[in-house]
Amino acid sequence: MKPLSHRVLKLLAAGDFCSGEALAKSLGVSRAAVWHAVRELTAAGLEVYRVHGRGYRLQQPLSLLDPAEVRRHLGRRAACVTLEILNSVESTNTLALQRAQAGAPSATVIAAEWQTAGRGRQGRAWHAGIGGGLTFSMVWRFAHGAGFLSGLSLAAGVALARGLQTLGVADAGLKWPNDVVWRGRKLAGILIEMQGDALGPGCAVIGIGVNVRLSEAVRSRIDQAAADLESACGRMLDRNVVLALLLTELHSVLEAFARGGFAPLRAEWQRHHAYQDERVSMILPDGRRESGVARGVGEDGALLVATRAGVRRYHSGEISLRPAACATDKVKAGA
Ligand code: ATP
Repeated sequence: MKPLSHRVLKLLAAGDFCSGEALAKSLGVSRAAVWHAVRELTAAGLEVYRVHGRGYRLQQPLSLLDPAEVRRHLGRRAACVTLEILNSVESTNTLALQRAQAGAPSATVIAAEWQTAGRGRQGRAWHAGIGGGLTFSMVWRFAHGAGFLSGLSLAAGVALARGLQTLGVADAGLKWPNDVVWRGRKLAGILIEMQGDALGPGCAVIGIGVNVRLSEAVRSRIDQAAADLESACGRMLDRNVVLALLLTELHSVLEAFARGGFAPLRAEWQRHHAYQDERVSMILPDGRRESGVARGVGEDGALLVATRAGVRRYHSGEISLRPAACATDKVKAGA
């Protein structure tokens, strides 16, 4: 996002009408430059109205990310986190991996007002519009090797479930291995990427994308049912409060994970399991499907599925879970 577009966005964020002339005057640019900035915001999925004689207005007020506000809401945890908030970035995970490579300390956080090329697993995309979601990544260094880190995406899911509960969303569910769903629709996703080898000290980047308020433009780009937090909570949210809350929960879960791995978090994950005791299909990397009844997860984060041949364990890798009722679902590998 161009700096001018961000400055226009700041002036429009309160949701009041601003004339092109007033915007141009307060920013010291031409009205044409304002027009181009508004066009960039619209192209990025923001709903901006233009009314003749009154000017521009956002469909709804927007809470923009403000590092000072996030730190204030982090309270005593602010001292544990190195926070960087950018106006736009291709992928917070990619940048966090670069920062980690350059020696960034544990609990370095990169958050972005707008992530333009967010990633999911296996090269899939995470879509987000300006100001409509939270996209952030945390660097975490572990004394143990990468082998110890199985179950980390499930642990991050526990952190999200705790945060959502605090916001009043009691019925969010965790979908193995890396999604949060609300009423069968995807509300948040987690992408874990590792640095280091299996034996030595490891470094993980935990990337999280949460829909706070999905615009129609963004929703139309998502090829599965999606939900957003404001619908789940039934009220407008301050993204600074939500980000601080999720960072607090993530930090606390990662501390627990560093001490004892996933095992101490397993029971809590299972309480939120969206498909416990339901029929599910597992899509394997070669596209084959295996079905059974989901029976929760092991202490290492493996999904346990009761099949005719007994209980099978699935390790996340490139495996995808789908509820068996989801007959029309496409096989993502190769989609
Ligand atoms: P898996 O079960 O293997 O994790 P997945 O479809 O959830 O499958 P991910 O890699 O976790 O795949 O996430 C990427 C997918 O999430 C995209 O292919 C798209 O279907 C969906 N998606 C992208 N952006 C959003 C969003 N903002 N909200 C909800 N879902 C999204």
